[in-house]
Amino acid sequence: MPDLDGRVTIITGAGSGIGRAMTEAFVAAGARVFAVDLSAERLAETADAIAAPDALKTHVANVAVEGPIVGMLEACAAAFGPVEVICNNAGILDRMAPVTETDDALWQKVLDVNLTGPFLVTRAALPAMLERGSGIFVNTCSIASFLGGRAGFAYTATKHGILGLTRAVAAEYGDRGIRCNGIAPGSVKTNISLDMNISDAGMALRQKGLATRPPQATGADMAPVAVFLASEAAHYINGTCIVADAGWTAY
Ligand code: NAD
Repeated sequence: MPDLDGRVTIITGAGSGIGRAMTEAFVAAGARVFAVDLSAERLAETADAIAAPDALKTHVANVAVEGPIVGMLEACAAAFGPVEVICNNAGILDRMAPVTETDDALWQKVLDVNLTGPFLVTRAALPAMLERGSGIFVNTCSIASFLGGRAGFAYTATKHGILGLTRAVAAEYGDRGIRCNGIAPGSVKTNISLDMNISDAGMALRQKGLATRPPQATGADMAPVAVFLASEAAHYINGTCIVADAGWTAY
């Protein structure tokens, strides 16, 4: 595992699934992690599971809303110092709903969390990073950032959006010390579809894409990719997205 050498890292969605696994891997790699989630309970479970109070602080915030995002950056700076790495990982699913079942409320909610949130976090964090001449973003994209038939309509649209955000930030600020990359998981066993009223019509429409799905990964299968992208080993990598899907997109 590359050495993250005390890097101050914010991980959003750290209370569950891929974000919790990333938090564990970043702490193990020597980062100081400011773990953020909507759910205080889930964050407490993450902190208990990792048990590294000096290297891990938790913070409850809604990372789809600007005020709490600014508060998150300030609280991180107070706890560990200015943030050096941000993993924009928090995200929600869309019931696998097709466009005809996507009402305004579902569209807005998925857009807010999966795309507007990472935009607001990036915009708020960049000025200080640019002043220091360095900053790293690792955005959790998806194979739905590349393909139309692996998730619902709103999710697919927002995950294409976060890939565009990732490339644009790298293109805009790569020559000023900013690296912005993504990871694209395939299917990972997490809580993302828990208690969700999955759309039958949406599932029927996705059958061609789902038919070739490999066995599900765990968050721990994804986390080392994020650690790598946050490390010096990835210093020449910018504006791209590493697919970790056991070959699902090869079909
Ligand atoms: P998860 O539901 O297990 O964890 C997501 C966490 O994000 C939860 O703890 C939730 O409370 C938190 N969260 C949601 N909205 C938030 C908000 N507004 N502010 C703060 N925290 C918020 O899901 P996961 O599968 O680990 O998802 C993590 C990321 O991985 C998401 O961006 C998701 O789109 C992406 N992803 C997941 C899969 C998969 O198969 N699970 C595949 C591709 C991409």
